Amino acid sequence: MSHQQFKTEVNDLLQLITHSLYSHSEIFLRELVSNSSDALDKLKYLTLTDEKLKELEFTPQIDIELDEENHKIFTVRDNGIGMNKEDLVSSLGTIARSGTKNFIKNLSEEAKKDSNLIGQFGVGFYSVFMIADKAEVISKKAGEDKAWKWTSDGKTGFDITEAERDTHGTTIILHLNENGKEYDNRWQVEQITKKYSNHIAFPIYLHYEKTEYGKEGEEPTKTPTVEQINSASALWRRSKNDLKPEDYNEFYKTISNDFQEPMHYIHTRAEGQLEYNTLFYFPTKAPMDMFQADYQPGVKLYVKRVFITDDDKELLPTYLRFVKGIIDSEDLPLNVSRELLQKNKVLANIKKASTKKILSEIKKLQNNSEKYTSFIEEYNRPLKEGLYSDFENKESLMELVRFKSTAVEGWTSFKEYKERMGEDQKSIYFITGDNEGFLRNSPLLEVYKSKNIEVLIMADEIDEVVIPMLGKYDDVELKAINKAGSADEIKSDDDKKSEDSIKPLIEKIKEILGESVKDVVASTRLTDSPSCVVADENDPTSQMAQMMKAMGQ
Ligand code: ADP
Ligand code: MG
Repeated sequence: MSHQQFKTEVNDLLQLITHSLYSHSEIFLRELVSNSSDALDKLKYLTLTDEKLKELEFTPQIDIELDEENHKIFTVRDNGIGMNKEDLVSSLGTIARSGTKNFIKNLSEEAKKDSNLIGQFGVGFYSVFMIADKAEVISKKAGEDKAWKWTSDGKTGFDITEAERDTHGTTIILHLNENGKEYDNRWQVEQITKKYSNHIAFPIYLHYEKTEYGKEGEEPTKTPTVEQINSASALWRRSKNDLKPEDYNEFYKTISNDFQEPMHYIHTRAEGQLEYNTLFYFPTKAPMDMFQADYQPGVKLYVKRVFITDDDKELLPTYLRFVKGIIDSEDLPLNVSRELLQKNKVLANIKKASTKKILSEIKKLQNNSEKYTSFIEEYNRPLKEGLYSDFENKESLMELVRFKSTAVEGWTSFKEYKERMGEDQKSIYFITGDNEGFLRNSPLLEVYKSKNIEVLIMADEIDEVVIPMLGKYDDVELKAINKAGSADEIKSDDDKKSEDSIKPLIEKIKEILGESVKDVVASTRLTDSPSCVVADENDPTSQMAQMMKAMGQ
């Protein structure tokens, strides 16, 4: 069997891992266990839905075998779905997730050294090459006859040959390097497993030799021993009272591929008409694929503790795609097909209730201004998307989004703006554009400054699309100041008089500029600059005009 090269992105990833993740090498075990757990989830699901596999009886489990005497071999075994030859090539020879590929490509040399950044994607199987010179993967796919062995040194490429394996599933045999020797140790493995994998849904058994010392002069006896080392209780089904923040944080790491603690978690049990448990997390840093169309959804669906899918983008509204976690329903049939999920009433209800719950928790976060600022720095933008996509929750979302302003430092809300408004101020004023610094120096702000009127600075490209659509906040109109006529309502009688006095000059300018402009008007909005260009009240503003041009409108 010939030797096959890794795809270039695999080489890049291997480079990255070996250079940056060394101090975190223990995560190899978390990654292997999580792959086994996924494989067991998949097979469990198939035995419920696939005619061919319905007869198959299996007790899902993961086994870890140690070589405490020689510290050479480390084995992880599962009886999950397994891989055939094609699967081995496509899963272990390339990087399937396109987000990861782009992510690596775009990382600067500096960023590559930041292991927190790396924690943002599944480091996955290749992390074994931090601690092994050679890895063998022996696998047999459920429902198939042949087993295959994939072997690699994690440098050049891999070989695949036919192999033997009794049952379906996968065995990973690691030939440890110097750095890996410490993992052939019972206490180490127990501790790492508890840290990362305590709450996965399947038991993890540790196989080792127990040494017992007899009377003096007698040889100690060695007994092969098997011990379950994780609690394997689906954490989200346990009572909140039994759980500590550490339990939640540790569980988060097992489901999110994130090293960092989560920013926040929300654990809910619903009883009554519908019965379900949800556990949601806000990552401390926004997922790196948040703005990619092919982002990986963060929420996994379970039915009565059986994993159904982690690839359904409809479980929560798109704008909440940064939320990670679990929905576990008691009401769906176990063999619900993934295609039918979209139209499912039970799920629609869970989605609706979960959205409300998440938004109300975000509202509560506002009480802690430091925490809320961090939240806004990461998630302001998706919330703004919600302003135009989630009509039902528009009112709550308007309380949650934040803006920069001419009146205060940092972020501010519509509500705070309204509280600061002068008695005879009629509207909430805002200016849109793509650069905060530019906007702050805009001549359009001059008249508002001179009259001490606050203007919201909207420098996020999405603002221009979303904010004008809102119309009002709490009965106060929202007005873009980069529109003709927008300053009319703040004019004094003196302003109006001086405008009249320059009418003849205006006529002259109009004559000269002719067709190249729509209109020329006197304005009191400027105090220091002589003139500026603005959009007509009903026209798109200039930035919007550019965006529409770019979209071919
Ligand atoms: P990820 O788990 O994020 O997809 P990995 O590098 O951890 O990335 O694994 C790559 C792929 O290899 C998995 O998606 C899966 O298809 C396959 N795989 C890895 N380990 C196993 C296993 N124990 N059983 C079955 N398939 C596996
Ligand atoms: Mg994985």
